[in-house]
Amino acid sequence: MSVANAIHAVVPGRLICTSNTKPVGAGPVAHWIANELVVDPDDGLARTATFSTPVIVNAAGAWADEAAQRCGVRPLRIAPKRRTMVQLRVGRSGLRDLPLVDDTSGTFYFKGEGDSSVWLSPHDEIATDPCDAAPEEIDIATAIDRFESVVDWSIERVERSWAGLRSFARDRLPVYGFDAHAPGFFWCAGQGGFGIQTSPAAAKLAAALLLDQAPDAMVELIDPALFSPRRFSS
Ligand SMILES: Cc1cc2nc3c(=O)[nH]c(=O)nc-3n(C[C@H](O)[C@H](O)[C@H](O)COP(=O)(O)OP(=O)(O)OC[C@H]3O[C@@H](n4cnc5c(N)ncnc54)[C@H](O)[C@@H]3O)c2cc1C
Repeated sequence: MSVANAIHAVVPGRLICTSNTKPVGAGPVAHWIANELVVDPDDGLARTATFSTPVIVNAAGAWADEAAQRCGVRPLRIAPKRRTMVQLRVGRSGLRDLPLVDDTSGTFYFKGEGDSSVWLSPHDEIATDPCDAAPEEIDIATAIDRFESVVDWSIERVERSWAGLRSFARDRLPVYGFDAHAPGFFWCAGQGGFGIQTSPAAAKLAAALLLDQAPDAMVELIDPALFSPRRFSS
């Protein structure tokens, strides 16, 4: 991500990793220092600042590997994959409460959105570099073709379409925990297609690991080793 893009993407007060972030201290890392851009919450302007911190949380989504590399940390091969969504106006009403319909081969799904509209996806997982994802015409057409093969509703128009990146670790499990080789570097990445629904539990698990505290009751039966980045270090 370019600095310009990062500034546009950022909300006031949020740190943007734009330059090398380095561990400082002999043996176990004492702290990290970073010369970064930060957006001032008062005037919205980006300024450089130097930060020192014992812990860095890498929650950069599709850019998780890139953020790690900027910190000199070995990437985990977190792979971003594009997913396309289409909002279709169809010649039928009463669809608002239509439940999620998923084909058994996993090639498309749709659900009711408005009275005469549905959200439709071709269930795509297209490998891509981290980017501001946009839908491709071919994926929209593929979605509509698959949809038309199971319904006889006329398609009036594509009301809108969009795409986003879902990022996966090699085993498609999320990654929460301190890096095996870079003390103080905490991964919170690879949530794939379930990062919204899992975020309450993920946040509690990550907080317990980060603060070295007993886990909240919501996650006390979860084995953190399942999600640790250390599973990739052998
Ligand atoms: C089409 C689509 C449908 C989905 N449907 C569902 C669903 O139904 N249910 C569900 O649970 N999940 C769903 N997901 C998945 C869910 O959106 C993700 O799992 C979740 O957003 C991952 O959260 P995240 O915070 O790790 O990453 P992101 O949401 O990608 O956030 C990462 C953020 O880090 C920022 N960033 C990157 N680099 C830097 C940097 N150097 N400095 C500062 N900021 C940086 C990025 O700009 C971004 O804002 C869907 C995803 C897509 C694309």
